[in-house]
Amino acid sequence: PATSLQDIVGHAKEYGFVFPSSEIYDGLQAVYDYGQNGVELKNNLKAAWWKAMTQLHDNIVGIDAAIFMHPLTWKASGHVDGFNDPMIDNKDSKKRYRADQLLEGKAEQYEAEGQAEKGKALLTEMGRLLSAEDLAGVRELIIAENIKCPVSGTANWTEVRQFNLMFSTQVGSVAEESNLIYLRPETAQGIFVNFLNVQKSGRMKIPFGIAQIGKAFRNEIVARQFTFRMREFEQMEMQFFIRPGTEMAWYESWKEARMKFHKAIGLPAEKLKFHDHDKLAHYANAAVDIEYQFPFGFREMEGIHSRTDFDLRNHQELSKKKQQYFDSDLDENGKPYGNYIPYVVETSVGADRLFLATFCNAYTVETVGEGDNVKERTYLKLHPALAPFKVAVLPLVKKDGLAEKAQAIANSLKSSFRTTYDDGAAIGKRYTRQDLIGTPFCIAVDYQTMEDDTVTIRHRDTMEQERVAISDLKEKIGYQVAI
Ligand code: ATP
Repeated sequence: PATSLQDIVGHAKEYGFVFPSSEIYDGLQAVYDYGQNGVELKNNLKAAWWKAMTQLHDNIVGIDAAIFMHPLTWKASGHVDGFNDPMIDNKDSKKRYRADQLLEGKAEQYEAEGQAEKGKALLTEMGRLLSAEDLAGVRELIIAENIKCPVSGTANWTEVRQFNLMFSTQVGSVAEESNLIYLRPETAQGIFVNFLNVQKSGRMKIPFGIAQIGKAFRNEIVARQFTFRMREFEQMEMQFFIRPGTEMAWYESWKEARMKFHKAIGLPAEKLKFHDHDKLAHYANAAVDIEYQFPFGFREMEGIHSRTDFDLRNHQELSKKKQQYFDSDLDENGKPYGNYIPYVVETSVGADRLFLATFCNAYTVETVGEGDNVKERTYLKLHPALAPFKVAVLPLVKKDGLAEKAQAIANSLKSSFRTTYDDGAAIGKRYTRQDLIGTPFCIAVDYQTMEDDTVTIRHRDTMEQERVAISDLKEKIGYQVAI
């Protein structure tokens, strides 16, 4: 049977990957906590991304900017005026929806019914109305399409209003004059405002990139689908600064590079696809999403955008500080390119969406055995580099020195790989425990180990076992846990 999102949510909670936030108080909508295994998987994903960006590219460096930024940042970026979603309420159920999502749902329904053209036309019309800020028109379209509230079953809708997604709070004590400040809705602006700091202090030459991993906050109107759409989430963004006119070549090359990354960490090609934007954001001249096939359909996981000089130019205007770069390379006439505001191609992926994609893809239920022995086996088929534990060391029995021997092996591996030790139940049960959290290698210590210093390695996906000398373990496992 196909995996449902419910299976994923259940497994994630039961095995310490993701918990609802403040669960003892019945949770907080669209906010989640990563548990003891989830934090490891997420950290491994972030490390893989960080390595792909900063270690494998000589011309990309990282920063870690603050979540709070000067409020003018968000004026310059366009978020104060334009970071809105159209919102509509059903008068009977008092439930709130995103108007664009209601229409997208209807378009998907048309497509499912074999009326793809009708669905496409609906999306085009929606895009036209939204670009024209014709909110009354959006409401009319919802009514014309007879879209009903799933809760009340009625089409009794309020008007459509724009809703700004930024969270705000105040800095300064109450007694003083306090200032409105935002929680950043994207990490990118921390990079733009530091562009010259990094360029000068690092003597960076264009083309070069700045990478960052950090929290972002959006007051999403409808937050659902687990860690896919959260109000507090993490982004991994890289802004690549280039000479104007070279953006399309860089855009194509980053598209390919990012797709390659997702395949390298184990996401299968058939569950990934590019999706060109029909409607470009205010800052972009080309944009594409990398979509992953989640249990609820193909959805955006990463965005690749050609942002022109939109951000730097606006920061220059508002801050009155020049955001220029002097390019001493020579053009075709043998003259230096000189001063310009760089263009930017960015790649932006949500750590939590990448986590969800990885987790969904890894979750495997298989039927094993024959005859009366047929049973279901559930395991996480994670790339070894991403698994929370790389190795579990398991003594066959606790007595006769096997436990001590196994502990010594575990201790010798610990500093190289995240290793766990377990002597708590029958060996089959202990293998299952490791399968459920995705540990790729289980090392069993048996009586033969006491005689010849060999152990068995059991491979998670095939359940095959091989006999290996203890002295070979590090090398054997080591080359499989790198990306
Ligand atoms: P969507 O259309 O799904 O709201 P978006 O186009 O607004 O996403 P971007 O602004 O391009 O997203 O952000 C870049 C990436 O950040 C997205 O591809 C996604 O992986 C991640 N992201 C954005 N919003 C959220 C969220 N609410 N929860 C989790 N991840 C998010």
